[in-house]
Amino acid sequence: MELGNRWSLRGETALVTGGSKGIGFAIVEELARFGAAVHTCARNEAELKESVQKWKDQKLQVTGSVCDVSSSEERENLIHEVNAVFNGKLNILVNNAAFGSIKPVLEVTQEEYQHTMNTNLEAGFHLSQLAHPLLKASGRGNIVFVSSIAGLLGYSSVSVYGASKGAMNQLTRGLACEWAKDNIRTNCVAPGVIKTSAVKSLVENEELVAKWCHRTPLGRVGEPEEVAASVAFLCLPSSSFITGQVITVDGGNTINGDI
Ligand code: NDP
Repeated sequence: MELGNRWSLRGETALVTGGSKGIGFAIVEELARFGAAVHTCARNEAELKESVQKWKDQKLQVTGSVCDVSSSEERENLIHEVNAVFNGKLNILVNNAAFGSIKPVLEVTQEEYQHTMNTNLEAGFHLSQLAHPLLKASGRGNIVFVSSIAGLLGYSSVSVYGASKGAMNQLTRGLACEWAKDNIRTNCVAPGVIKTSAVKSLVENEELVAKWCHRTPLGRVGEPEEVAASVAFLCLPSSSFITGQVITVDGGNTINGDI
């Protein structure tokens, strides 16, 4: 394949969940800039519309629809819509939308546990299942899960969120083995602390940021665009021999053995 084609998503189609802000927003923009037509979703209609308009103003091919990925019925509606928008072919599915709460295990209610698992694990699982025929029909399918380093390491007060992400990492490996025959690669990115509104209280807490930076070889928190670039790489033909991987995007935080 020519160099230009290895680094292009021209003619490809993508679905990114949770694209109205944060990491998802950056992923939509990155994939669209590589030439893909992208569909995204979020729960807040006004914010979604505003983001889609921003992309339209930049002449990027992005559409959006309101969907709460924690609802099975809404997931089915979303894939019906994607099927219609992209004529039955989807090259890329990015499972990005998630829910997390900071709470000791003993304070987590059954509803919160179920909501975390529904939004993070079941949604990614079910959307992958629903999208499978479209990914297969595209001839070159890619699934990318947005996990977390909390799925790799233990942290106090995010045990359920961490468990949902750890299971997502393992689902990545299973799908990679099962669907390789359908020309579908499955990979995962596990971000460390990334500057988004979801972790506003953390990134505005100087003491916590200083602790994070001390443990992190690159000595800073990350930007959404730095996660988006890794996701895009995993979707490009240039990564055609990579599948089943969980790639940390964390400034080296999880490989640091120094005391
Ligand atoms: P943000 O809160 O900044 O953005 C989340 C996006 O997902 C929004 O567009 C939001 O829109 C949408 N969303 C949330 N819940 C749902 C839902 N149930 N259905 C549909 N859309 C939804 O979060 P981040 O960008 O920080 O997080 C993105 C991903 O990165 C998540 O998987 C998170 O776990 C992961 N991550 C983030 C880290 C960080 O430090 N920021 C660290 C490690 C992992 P709306 O609210 O309108 O639905």
